[in-house]
Amino acid sequence: MSARAESVAARARRIYDDAIVIDGHNDVVTKVLDDGYDLDVRHAAGFGKETGQTDLPRLAESGITAQFLAAWVDASHAARDPDGSFERALAYFDAIDAFAARHPERLLLATDATAVWRAKREGRIAIYVGVEGGHAIEGSLDKLRELRRRGARYLTLTWNNGNEWAGSSIGVNGTRTGGLTPFGRDVIRELERLGMLVDLSHASDRTFDDVLEVATNPVVATHSCARALADHPRNLSDGQLRAVARTGGVVGVNFYSRFLDPAFLAAALAREGGAADVPLPETPLSLLADHVEHVARVAGVEHVALGSDFDGVAALPEGMEDVTCLPRLAEALLARGFGDEELRLFLGGNLLRVMEHVFD
Ligand SMILES: [Zn+2]
Repeated sequence: MSARAESVAARARRIYDDAIVIDGHNDVVTKVLDDGYDLDVRHAAGFGKETGQTDLPRLAESGITAQFLAAWVDASHAARDPDGSFERALAYFDAIDAFAARHPERLLLATDATAVWRAKREGRIAIYVGVEGGHAIEGSLDKLRELRRRGARYLTLTWNNGNEWAGSSIGVNGTRTGGLTPFGRDVIRELERLGMLVDLSHASDRTFDDVLEVATNPVVATHSCARALADHPRNLSDGQLRAVARTGGVVGVNFYSRFLDPAFLAAALAREGGAADVPLPETPLSLLADHVEHVARVAGVEHVALGSDFDGVAALPEGMEDVTCLPRLAEALLARGFGDEELRLFLGGNLLRVMEHVFD
Protein backbone atom coordinates (compact mmCIF):
# COMPACT_ATOMS: atom_id res chain seq x y z
CA MET A 1 0.00 0.00 0.00
CA SER A 2 1.38 3.41 -0.94
CA ALA A 3 1.81 6.22 1.56
CA ARG A 4 -0.90 8.18 -0.22
CA ALA A 5 -3.42 5.31 0.01
CA GLU A 6 -2.66 4.98 3.72
CA SER A 7 -3.32 8.63 4.29
CA VAL A 8 -6.65 8.47 2.45
CA ALA A 9 -7.68 5.52 4.64
CA ALA A 10 -6.71 7.35 7.81
CA ARG A 11 -8.51 10.50 6.70
CA ALA A 12 -11.63 8.49 5.79
CA ARG A 13 -11.61 6.85 9.22
CA ARG A 14 -11.24 10.19 11.01
CA ILE A 15 -14.13 11.79 9.07
CA TYR A 16 -16.28 8.68 9.43
CA ASP A 17 -15.72 8.40 13.19
CA ASP A 18 -16.63 12.04 13.66
CA ALA A 19 -19.62 12.04 11.28
CA ILE A 20 -23.29 11.29 11.80
CA VAL A 21 -23.73 7.97 9.97
CA ILE A 22 -27.29 6.88 9.14
CA ASP A 23 -28.33 3.86 7.10
CA GLY A 24 -31.86 4.16 5.75
CA HIS A 25 -32.73 0.49 5.18
CA ASN A 26 -31.82 -2.83 6.81
CA ASP A 27 -33.86 -6.05 6.66
CA VAL A 28 -32.26 -8.08 9.46
CA VAL A 29 -35.43 -8.24 11.57
CA THR A 30 -36.97 -10.54 8.95
CA LYS A 31 -34.24 -13.05 9.84
CA VAL A 32 -35.19 -12.68 13.50
CA LEU A 33 -38.84 -13.46 12.77
CA ASP A 34 -38.31 -16.18 10.16
CA ASP A 35 -35.06 -17.89 11.18
CA GLY A 36 -34.75 -17.16 14.89
CA TYR A 37 -31.59 -15.15 14.12
CA ASP A 38 -30.13 -13.82 17.38
CA LEU A 39 -29.29 -10.13 17.05
CA ASP A 40 -27.41 -10.13 20.36
CA VAL A 41 -24.47 -12.26 19.23
CA ARG A 42 -21.88 -11.93 16.48
CA HIS A 43 -22.39 -13.90 13.27
CA ALA A 44 -20.11 -14.53 10.32
CA ALA A 45 -20.86 -12.45 7.22
CA GLY A 46 -22.94 -14.38 4.68
CA PHE A 47 -26.38 -15.06 3.28
CA GLY A 48 -27.53 -18.14 5.22
CA LYS A 49 -29.83 -18.55 8.19
CA GLU A 50 -26.92 -18.43 10.66
CA THR A 51 -24.93 -15.78 8.80
CA GLY A 52 -25.78 -12.20 7.94
CA GLN A 53 -24.62 -8.63 7.67
CA THR A 54 -25.99 -7.25 10.92
CA ASP A 55 -26.10 -7.91 14.67
CA LEU A 56 -25.51 -5.84 17.80
CA PRO A 57 -21.76 -6.54 18.13
CA ARG A 58 -21.12 -5.58 14.49
CA LEU A 59 -23.48 -2.58 14.57
CA ALA A 60 -21.49 -1.32 17.56
CA GLU A 61 -18.20 -1.99 15.77
CA SER A 62 -19.46 -0.23 12.62
CA GLY A 63 -19.62 3.13 14.39
CA ILE A 64 -23.04 3.80 12.87
CA THR A 65 -25.07 6.55 14.59
CA ALA A 66 -28.58 5.58 13.47
CA GLN A 67 -30.10 2.56 11.75
CA PHE A 68 -33.49 2.27 10.11
CA LEU A 69 -34.83 -1.27 10.46
CA ALA A 70 -37.44 -2.38 7.95
CA ALA A 71 -40.75 -3.87 9.04
CA TRP A 72 -41.08 -5.66 5.73
CA VAL A 73 -44.34 -7.35 4.89
CA ASP A 74 -43.68 -9.98 2.23
CA ALA A 75 -45.94 -10.13 -0.82
CA SER A 76 -47.04 -13.60 0.26
CA HIS A 77 -48.93 -12.04 3.15
CA ALA A 78 -51.03 -10.07 0.71
CA ALA A 79 -51.48 -13.01 -1.68
CA ARG A 80 -52.13 -15.79 0.84
CA ASP A 81 -53.56 -14.00 3.84
CA PRO A 82 -54.74 -10.51 2.85
CA ASP A 83 -55.86 -9.81 6.40
CA GLY A 84 -52.51 -10.85 7.87
CA SER A 85 -50.35 -8.03 6.53
CA PHE A 86 -50.97 -5.51 9.31
CA GLU A 87 -50.41 -8.13 11.99
CA ARG A 88 -47.17 -9.15 10.31
CA ALA A 89 -45.97 -5.53 10.45
CA LEU A 90 -46.80 -5.37 14.16
CA ALA A 91 -44.67 -8.46 14.82
CA TYR A 92 -41.64 -6.45 13.66
CA PHE A 93 -42.36 -3.67 16.13
CA ASP A 94 -42.57 -6.25 18.94
CA ALA A 95 -39.19 -7.73 17.93
CA ILE A 96 -37.52 -4.31 17.55
CA ASP A 97 -38.94 -3.02 20.85
CA ALA A 98 -37.61 -6.13 22.60
CA PHE A 99 -34.17 -5.76 20.95
CA ALA A 100 -33.86 -2.15 22.09
CA ALA A 101 -35.17 -2.97 25.57
CA ARG A 102 -32.49 -5.66 26.05
CA HIS A 103 -29.70 -3.15 25.31
CA PRO A 104 -30.54 0.26 26.74
CA GLU A 105 -26.82 1.02 27.11
CA ARG A 106 -26.13 0.42 23.40
CA LEU A 107 -29.39 1.24 21.62
CA LEU A 108 -31.83 4.13 21.65
CA LEU A 109 -35.26 3.36 20.23
CA ALA A 110 -36.05 6.58 18.45
CA THR A 111 -38.88 8.40 16.74
CA ASP A 112 -37.71 12.03 16.60
CA ALA A 113 -34.67 13.30 14.70
CA THR A 114 -32.99 14.81 17.76
CA ALA A 115 -32.32 11.27 19.00
CA VAL A 116 -29.58 11.07 16.34
CA TRP A 117 -27.59 13.77 18.16
CA ARG A 118 -28.30 12.18 21.52
CA ALA A 119 -27.14 8.78 20.26
CA LYS A 120 -23.93 10.33 18.88
CA ARG A 121 -23.25 12.12 22.17
CA GLU A 122 -23.90 9.02 24.28
CA GLY A 123 -22.15 6.51 22.03
CA ARG A 124 -25.39 4.64 21.36
CA ILE A 125 -27.14 3.69 18.12
CA ALA A 126 -30.51 5.27 17.38
CA ILE A 127 -32.96 2.69 16.02
CA TYR A 128 -35.79 3.83 13.73
CA VAL A 129 -38.46 1.73 12.04
CA GLY A 130 -39.74 2.02 8.49
CA VAL A 131 -42.63 -0.10 7.23
CA GLU A 132 -41.97 -1.66 3.81
CA GLY A 133 -44.95 -2.66 1.67
CA GLY A 134 -48.05 -0.46 1.66
CA HIS A 135 -50.30 -3.53 1.83
CA ALA A 136 -49.36 -3.49 5.55
CA ILE A 137 -52.08 -0.88 6.12
CA GLU A 138 -54.72 -3.16 4.57
CA GLY A 139 -56.35 -0.18 2.86
CA SER A 140 -57.00 1.59 6.18
CA LEU A 141 -55.77 5.02 7.29
CA ASP A 142 -56.58 3.95 10.87
CA LYS A 143 -54.07 1.12 10.54
CA LEU A 144 -51.53 3.57 9.09
CA ARG A 145 -52.06 5.78 12.14
CA GLU A 146 -51.60 2.75 14.41
CA LEU A 147 -48.25 1.98 12.74
CA ARG A 148 -47.24 5.59 13.37
CA ARG A 149 -48.23 5.20 17.04
CA ARG A 150 -45.99 2.15 17.23
CA GLY A 151 -43.11 4.30 15.96
CA ALA A 152 -43.04 3.90 12.16
CA ARG A 153 -41.23 6.84 10.54
CA TYR A 154 -41.53 5.89 6.90
CA LEU A 155 -43.76 3.85 4.64
CA THR A 156 -42.28 2.25 1.52
CA LEU A 157 -45.41 2.52 -0.59
CA THR A 158 -45.04 -0.85 -2.27
CA TRP A 159 -42.71 -3.81 -2.17
CA ASN A 160 -42.23 -5.89 -5.36
CA ASN A 161 -46.01 -6.34 -5.21
CA GLY A 162 -48.31 -3.48 -6.00
CA ASN A 163 -51.32 -2.98 -3.76
CA GLU A 164 -54.86 -1.70 -4.25
CA TRP A 165 -53.74 1.94 -4.08
CA ALA A 166 -50.14 2.06 -5.42
CA GLY A 167 -48.28 0.31 -8.25
CA SER A 168 -44.92 -1.45 -7.93
CA SER A 169 -41.90 -1.41 -10.26
CA ILE A 170 -41.98 -5.24 -10.42
CA GLY A 171 -45.63 -6.23 -10.01
CA VAL A 172 -45.04 -9.76 -8.69
CA ASN A 173 -47.99 -12.13 -8.53
CA GLY A 174 -49.69 -10.08 -11.25
CA THR A 175 -50.16 -7.11 -8.91
CA ARG A 176 -50.58 -3.50 -10.01
CA THR A 177 -47.79 -1.54 -11.70
CA GLY A 178 -49.87 1.58 -12.35
CA GLY A 179 -50.13 4.82 -10.44
CA LEU A 180 -51.80 6.06 -7.26
CA THR A 181 -55.55 5.75 -6.84
CA PRO A 182 -57.51 8.57 -5.15
CA PHE A 183 -57.15 6.62 -1.89
CA GLY A 184 -53.42 6.37 -2.58
CA ARG A 185 -53.30 10.16 -2.72
CA ASP A 186 -55.06 10.23 0.66
CA VAL A 187 -52.35 7.90 2.01
CA ILE A 188 -49.63 10.35 0.88
CA ARG A 189 -51.46 13.27 2.51
CA GLU A 190 -51.95 11.28 5.74
CA LEU A 191 -48.26 10.26 5.81
CA GLU A 192 -47.31 13.91 5.58
CA ARG A 193 -49.81 14.88 8.28
CA LEU A 194 -48.34 12.17 10.55
CA GLY A 195 -44.79 13.37 9.93
CA MET A 196 -43.83 10.15 8.17
CA LEU A 197 -41.51 9.93 5.18
CA VAL A 198 -42.88 8.76 1.85
CA ASP A 199 -40.44 6.12 0.55
CA LEU A 200 -40.50 5.66 -3.23
CA SER A 201 -38.12 2.69 -3.44
CA HIS A 202 -39.97 -0.19 -5.20
CA ALA A 203 -42.68 2.14 -6.58
CA SER A 204 -43.61 2.05 -10.28
CA ASP A 205 -42.66 5.02 -12.44
CA ARG A 206 -46.31 6.10 -12.60
CA THR A 207 -46.71 5.92 -8.84
CA PHE A 208 -43.47 7.92 -8.52
CA ASP A 209 -44.89 10.67 -10.75
CA ASP A 210 -48.25 10.67 -8.97
CA VAL A 211 -46.62 10.98 -5.54
CA LEU A 212 -44.62 13.99 -6.65
CA GLU A 213 -47.85 15.71 -7.70
CA VAL A 214 -49.30 15.28 -4.20
CA ALA A 215 -46.28 15.51 -1.89
CA THR A 216 -45.39 18.81 -0.26
CA ASN A 217 -42.62 17.44 2.00
CA PRO A 218 -39.24 16.04 0.91
CA VAL A 219 -39.61 12.45 -0.32
CA VAL A 220 -37.04 9.66 -0.12
CA ALA A 221 -36.04 6.52 -1.96
CA THR A 222 -34.43 4.67 0.95
CA HIS A 223 -32.71 1.89 -1.02
CA SER A 224 -32.43 2.47 -4.79
CA CYS A 225 -29.59 2.76 -7.32
CA ALA A 226 -29.11 4.66 -10.58
CA ARG A 227 -30.84 3.29 -13.69
CA ALA A 228 -28.33 5.11 -15.95
CA LEU A 229 -25.60 2.77 -14.64
CA ALA A 230 -27.67 -0.42 -14.25
CA ASP A 231 -30.91 -0.73 -16.17
CA HIS A 232 -33.23 -2.36 -13.64
CA PRO A 233 -36.81 -1.22 -12.90
CA ARG A 234 -35.93 -1.01 -9.16
CA ASN A 235 -33.39 1.71 -9.99
CA LEU A 236 -34.17 5.40 -10.54
CA SER A 237 -33.76 7.29 -13.81
CA ASP A 238 -31.79 10.53 -13.88
CA GLY A 239 -35.10 12.41 -14.13
CA GLN A 240 -36.34 10.66 -10.99
CA LEU A 241 -33.11 11.42 -9.13
CA ARG A 242 -33.56 15.10 -9.97
CA ALA A 243 -37.24 14.97 -9.00
CA VAL A 244 -36.38 13.61 -5.52
CA ALA A 245 -33.79 16.38 -5.18
CA ARG A 246 -36.34 19.05 -6.12
CA THR A 247 -38.46 18.04 -3.12
CA GLY A 248 -35.39 18.40 -0.88
CA GLY A 249 -35.30 14.63 -0.31
CA VAL A 250 -32.61 11.96 -0.60
CA VAL A 251 -31.85 8.75 -2.47
CA GLY A 252 -30.22 6.05 -0.33
CA VAL A 253 -27.94 3.99 -2.56
CA ASN A 254 -28.60 0.24 -2.32
CA PHE A 255 -25.63 -2.15 -1.98
CA TYR A 256 -27.20 -5.13 -3.80
CA SER A 257 -24.98 -6.39 -6.66
CA ARG A 258 -28.10 -7.10 -8.73
CA PHE A 259 -28.99 -3.38 -8.78
CA LEU A 260 -25.40 -2.07 -9.01
CA ASP A 261 -23.80 -4.30 -11.59
CA PRO A 262 -25.16 -5.00 -15.11
CA ALA A 263 -22.81 -8.01 -15.44
CA PHE A 264 -24.14 -9.52 -12.21
CA LEU A 265 -27.75 -8.88 -13.26
CA ALA A 266 -27.22 -10.50 -16.67
CA ALA A 267 -25.65 -13.59 -15.08
CA ALA A 268 -28.38 -13.80 -12.42
CA LEU A 269 -31.11 -13.58 -15.08
CA ALA A 270 -29.39 -16.28 -17.17
CA ARG A 271 -29.24 -18.59 -14.13
CA GLU A 272 -32.88 -17.92 -13.30
CA GLY A 273 -33.67 -18.75 -16.92
CA GLY A 274 -32.16 -22.20 -16.46
CA ALA A 275 -28.47 -21.70 -17.34
CA ALA A 276 -27.36 -22.89 -13.90
CA ASP A 277 -23.69 -23.12 -14.89
CA VAL A 278 -23.34 -19.37 -15.57
CA PRO A 279 -21.06 -18.02 -12.82
CA LEU A 280 -22.08 -14.95 -10.85
CA PRO A 281 -19.33 -12.34 -11.14
CA GLU A 282 -17.90 -10.56 -8.10
CA THR A 283 -19.05 -6.95 -8.04
CA PRO A 284 -16.20 -4.54 -7.27
CA LEU A 285 -16.68 -1.95 -4.53
CA SER A 286 -15.89 0.71 -7.15
CA LEU A 287 -19.32 0.07 -8.74
CA LEU A 288 -21.06 1.00 -5.50
CA ALA A 289 -18.96 4.17 -5.37
CA ASP A 290 -19.92 4.82 -9.03
CA HIS A 291 -23.63 4.82 -8.12
CA VAL A 292 -23.06 7.14 -5.17
CA GLU A 293 -21.05 9.47 -7.38
CA HIS A 294 -23.69 9.37 -10.14
CA VAL A 295 -26.54 10.22 -7.76
CA ALA A 296 -24.42 13.00 -6.26
CA ARG A 297 -23.64 14.42 -9.69
CA VAL A 298 -27.16 14.20 -11.12
CA ALA A 299 -29.30 14.96 -8.03
CA GLY A 300 -26.70 17.00 -6.13
CA VAL A 301 -24.46 15.94 -3.27
CA GLU A 302 -27.11 17.14 -0.78
CA HIS A 303 -29.44 14.38 -2.04
CA VAL A 304 -27.47 11.13 -1.75
CA ALA A 305 -27.46 8.84 1.29
CA LEU A 306 -26.78 5.33 2.58
CA GLY A 307 -29.43 2.68 1.90
CA SER A 308 -27.54 -0.58 2.33
CA ASP A 309 -30.45 -3.06 2.24
CA PHE A 310 -28.18 -5.32 4.35
CA ASP A 311 -29.79 -8.66 5.16
CA GLY A 312 -32.33 -8.08 2.42
CA VAL A 313 -29.96 -8.94 -0.44
CA ALA A 314 -28.38 -12.08 -1.89
CA ALA A 315 -25.03 -10.63 -3.01
CA LEU A 316 -22.84 -7.67 -2.09
CA PRO A 317 -19.77 -5.97 -3.59
CA GLU A 318 -16.31 -7.26 -2.67
CA GLY A 319 -15.19 -5.68 0.58
CA MET A 320 -18.74 -4.73 1.66
CA GLU A 321 -19.57 -7.98 3.46
CA ASP A 322 -21.33 -6.49 6.47
CA VAL A 323 -22.09 -3.33 8.46
CA THR A 324 -18.53 -3.09 9.75
CA CYS A 325 -17.35 -2.42 6.17
CA LEU A 326 -19.07 0.98 5.85
CA PRO A 327 -15.81 2.95 6.40
CA ARG A 328 -14.44 1.33 3.23
CA LEU A 329 -17.06 3.11 1.17
CA ALA A 330 -16.08 6.39 2.82
CA GLU A 331 -12.49 5.68 1.80
CA ALA A 332 -13.45 4.83 -1.79
CA LEU A 333 -15.37 8.11 -2.11
CA LEU A 334 -12.55 10.21 -0.66
CA ALA A 335 -10.10 8.51 -3.00
CA ARG A 336 -12.16 9.64 -5.98
CA GLY A 337 -12.39 13.24 -4.88
CA PHE A 338 -15.30 13.63 -2.45
CA GLY A 339 -14.52 16.47 -0.05
CA ASP A 340 -14.76 16.06 3.72
CA GLU A 341 -18.10 17.88 3.93
CA GLU A 342 -19.51 16.02 0.91
CA LEU A 343 -18.63 12.74 2.59
CA ARG A 344 -20.37 13.82 5.81
CA LEU A 345 -23.49 14.76 3.89
CA PHE A 346 -23.57 11.35 2.19
CA LEU A 347 -22.89 9.38 5.39
CA GLY A 348 -25.79 10.91 7.29
CA GLY A 349 -26.03 14.68 7.08
CA ASN A 350 -28.45 14.61 4.18
CA LEU A 351 -30.83 12.04 5.63
CA LEU A 352 -30.72 13.79 9.01
CA ARG A 353 -31.71 17.06 7.34
CA VAL A 354 -34.77 15.36 5.84
CA MET A 355 -35.64 13.67 9.15
CA GLU A 356 -35.43 17.00 10.96
CA HIS A 357 -37.68 18.58 8.36
CA VAL A 358 -40.33 15.86 8.29
CA PHE A 359 -40.29 14.20 11.76
CA ASP A 360 -40.05 17.08 14.22
ZN1 LIG B 1 -36.83 -3.30 -0.37
